[in-house]
Amino acid sequence: MEKKTDYDVIVIGAGPAGMMAAGQAALQGARVLLLEKTDAVGKKLSITGQKRCNLTNTLDEKAFIERFGREGRFLRQAFHQFFRDDLLEFFAGLGVETTIERGGRIFPSNGDAADLTHKLWMWASEAGVILRTGARVEELLVEDGAILGVRLSGGETISAKAVVMATGGATYVGTGSSGDGYRLAEAAGHTIVPLRPALVPMKTSGNLAQRMQGLPLRNARMQVFFDDKRAIDAFGELLFTHFGISGPIVLTHSGEMVDTLREGKMVRVEIDIKPALDRGQLNQRLVRELDAGGKQYVRTMLKELLPHKMIEVCLQECEIPIDQPCHQVTAQQRKRLVEWMKGITLKVSGPLSMESGMVTMGGVALGEVDARTMMSKKVKGLYFAGEVLDLAADTGGFNLQAAFSTGWVAGQHCLFHEN
Ligand SMILES: Cc1cc2nc3c(=O)[nH]c(=O)nc-3n(C[C@H](O)[C@H](O)[C@H](O)COP(=O)(O)OP(=O)(O)OC[C@H]3O[C@@H](n4cnc5c(N)ncnc54)[C@H](O)[C@@H]3O)c2cc1C
Repeated sequence: MEKKTDYDVIVIGAGPAGMMAAGQAALQGARVLLLEKTDAVGKKLSITGQKRCNLTNTLDEKAFIERFGREGRFLRQAFHQFFRDDLLEFFAGLGVETTIERGGRIFPSNGDAADLTHKLWMWASEAGVILRTGARVEELLVEDGAILGVRLSGGETISAKAVVMATGGATYVGTGSSGDGYRLAEAAGHTIVPLRPALVPMKTSGNLAQRMQGLPLRNARMQVFFDDKRAIDAFGELLFTHFGISGPIVLTHSGEMVDTLREGKMVRVEIDIKPALDRGQLNQRLVRELDAGGKQYVRTMLKELLPHKMIEVCLQECEIPIDQPCHQVTAQQRKRLVEWMKGITLKVSGPLSMESGMVTMGGVALGEVDARTMMSKKVKGLYFAGEVLDLAADTGGFNLQAAFSTGWVAGQHCLFHEN
């Protein structure tokens, strides 16, 4: 006779993946317990997309999958079961209308991530999911290669036929995702691909960035060199900070920089703040401005060309005295000005911290998880969903779609494995 369990399904973690998995399992008639260690559901989801929640993207499935790099192939089967249109239809059913923005990014039309989080939880709750907050899972109970349940940090054990691990990554720990899932999975016999932060600000050596801290550049070109070989050429917004560089183009390419530094290679960034002008055109422009400037200080003339915060730094770096008049600028000095504006050079020393990444690269090795069901190939009845898996993409709504899709798949299948 089958032993009676406390629940059919325990879902660990009330993020997007966990709420989706729990709700789907409950809709199929399962008794579902959702365990969340913080005091609320969806803390990270509520702050996504600058609190507006970029929940998915218009890219087609192939291009979408490519955003996850090599690991993306794992998502193919999940996306065949539940992809963007299914997600949009799902949320439309909850009363969440959506709007497409620049870059195909899809947001709730009311721009309210907290509202979307609330509606998602209300849906799961109405489907019958029982929630326990302040409940931190400390151990997975496994016997003879099958899941039996979980042990909470207070020592209480709860049994279930299936456990879905949706514990998230190891960044923004204040939202609850502090990497517990990796430890739990490893203890249960899973391989953890080394964790690295992605979508993370980068530190730079020296104090050049610091001297311009707080300065955003809206239309910069950033070239990144790995051991002197150009590897990245990006245009867009960048920000100087007290530790180095941040902003969209830095975050987008931070994962590649982090991994290259781990390989022991040197990473150098060159920032072109006048990408619309080539060196010859910029030189001509300077000749004209300096001529017109006459006895005026160079620093006054530079107001036409540079943001205020950059002028003093530029003059120092180009070795031009602060009180030098325009008509005394030599051809050498002018050349230095051109070179500096076309290539502010910074040596990248590493990511700001693990914690400050928006997503975690690495995680539960995908080869050990059935891509069709999300069930562990090592522990029967153990399922994974969301960022705890070795999946990470850049910004654009890809990570949330992956969390929702894998959560949906785990929720659909977790009742039906053979014991
Ligand atoms: C600032 C920020 C903005 C972002 N914006 C976007 C965006 O706009 N679009 C996008 O696609 N992605 C975005 N992301 C990434 C996205 O939020 C994550 O990829 C996504 O939340 C992962 O979902 P998840 O359910 O796997 O994990 P999480 O959302 O991290 O949820 C995991 C949950 O598990 C709980 N938990 C962990 N360990 C335990 C335990 N031992 N016991 C019980 N509970 C536990 C945690 O408390 C947490 O509630 C953003 C990330 C950040 C940090």
